[in-house]
Amino acid sequence: MTALTEATHVPHPEYDREAVRVGIVHFGLGNFHRAHQAMYLDRLMAAGTGQDWGICGVGTRPADRRMHQVLEDQSYLYTLILKSGVGEPAPTIIGSIVDHLMANDDRDAVLARLSDPGVRIVSLTITEGGYRRNGAPSEDSVDVFDLIAEGLAARRTAGVQPFTVMSCDNLPHNGDAARRAVVDAAGRLGQEFADWVDRAVAFPSSMVDRITPVTTEEDRELVRTRFGLDDDWPVPAEPFAQWVLEDRFTLGRPPLEEAGVQMVADVAPFELMKLRLLNASHQAMAYSGILLGHSSVAAAAGDPLVEAFLRRYMAEARPTLPPVPGTDVRGYSESLLERFRNPAIADTLGRLATDSANRLAAFLVPVILDNLRAGRSVNASTAVLACWAHACANAVGDAQPQVSSTLRAAASAASEDPARFADEVEIFEPVIGYVEFRTALARGIASIRDRGVKAFLEEVAAEPG
Ligand code: NAD
Repeated sequence: MTALTEATHVPHPEYDREAVRVGIVHFGLGNFHRAHQAMYLDRLMAAGTGQDWGICGVGTRPADRRMHQVLEDQSYLYTLILKSGVGEPAPTIIGSIVDHLMANDDRDAVLARLSDPGVRIVSLTITEGGYRRNGAPSEDSVDVFDLIAEGLAARRTAGVQPFTVMSCDNLPHNGDAARRAVVDAAGRLGQEFADWVDRAVAFPSSMVDRITPVTTEEDRELVRTRFGLDDDWPVPAEPFAQWVLEDRFTLGRPPLEEAGVQMVADVAPFELMKLRLLNASHQAMAYSGILLGHSSVAAAAGDPLVEAFLRRYMAEARPTLPPVPGTDVRGYSESLLERFRNPAIADTLGRLATDSANRLAAFLVPVILDNLRAGRSVNASTAVLACWAHACANAVGDAQPQVSSTLRAAASAASEDPARFADEVEIFEPVIGYVEFRTALARGIASIRDRGVKAFLEEVAAEPG
């Protein structure tokens, strides 16, 4: 077994890691950051252009201690394993992370990093929940945004320009979400300071994409036996990666475009493309797949009927998108179908069906509304909702979409009286006034009841798109 620092038989950092200086402080150093941002920076370092942009991770929760220990023991190296489902998994040892601190143990060390003029970007992957600032964090955790605000205050006092705050979390307008949270935390240090933060600090938004599951024992075993590497916490991921980032950095940035990052003025069209094609298709696949008896994403996406239905849904959704600069949106749709079919990425329809009402409200209902306003067909999108209603009423076990008891009762009553369902679901509020919506949904529910899901999906998929 070879230590990661000694490994030369797999792709590994050939640059001098001793010469890498910390330029980025990252909060929430989990699997996604290690498969995405750190991989892009590793590429730049390999090309000799990222040496001032080394990453120092910061943990703020007791659960981060394990990552802290593993990385420290491995000189901050780890293996990224790309799995395409065909052919061998491809390992790369990533070297762009050069330090990690626990704010719970040494708050001063974190503040010293944040005050360092060499640190010009503070980035975040702290999950969506990390931005909800309702009350104090749990006793043994440190608040990320309080730390950032304190770091900015220390820089201001010392006459050091503020760093840019770069959210890489999966939430719409993530830069605005980060701005609200940092300005709110700054407000506790004074209103004048909060106003200054709002004016002086840049918060670029980004669209990030790479399916990165949690590491399993199988992944550890694979790295040990297949690659002979001694790695306690490798990261599995799909080969696809995308990062679209607004080019608003007040203290400079790495030349990320050289590593394949799309630097843009406005991320909004890219974000909309991802929400309406990737995230909404996940919903379309979840309920149709569950009713057809599938449980994994790869199996559902590999079913020709589900695939045809997804194609039809995407054709219906595409006209609602604004032009996406430099992007072939049809090609993007096809690449999604291929990614969904990847058997090496373990993802379940049950997971996609969690929090289903909120997800449908965020991803699918806006597609329906835009098409109704433009007088276009909503048959495929309302078919997703008809499948959802049937799955809520009939699916069992892990496959059952998570919904409130009121919603489940409405779904159970839907086959008796298909026309009533639309009125009983709060998330349909934006589209409920359209008779075309109500008719299409009632027709879908009745059709599944009378002819079964297979015949129904076949009919919808066969409509010209
Ligand atoms: P992970 O569980 O491996 O890591 C999450 C990190 O966030 C940990 O360091 C954790 O301590 C920290 N964290 C969690 N809740 C927090 C809170 N309330 N306050 C502060 N820190 C908190 O998860 P991951 O796979 O790295 O995903 C992290 C985020 O990355 C996702 O929530 C999403 O926004 C984004 N993302 C993930 C993927 C993916 O496929 N995994 C894809 C695109 C975007």
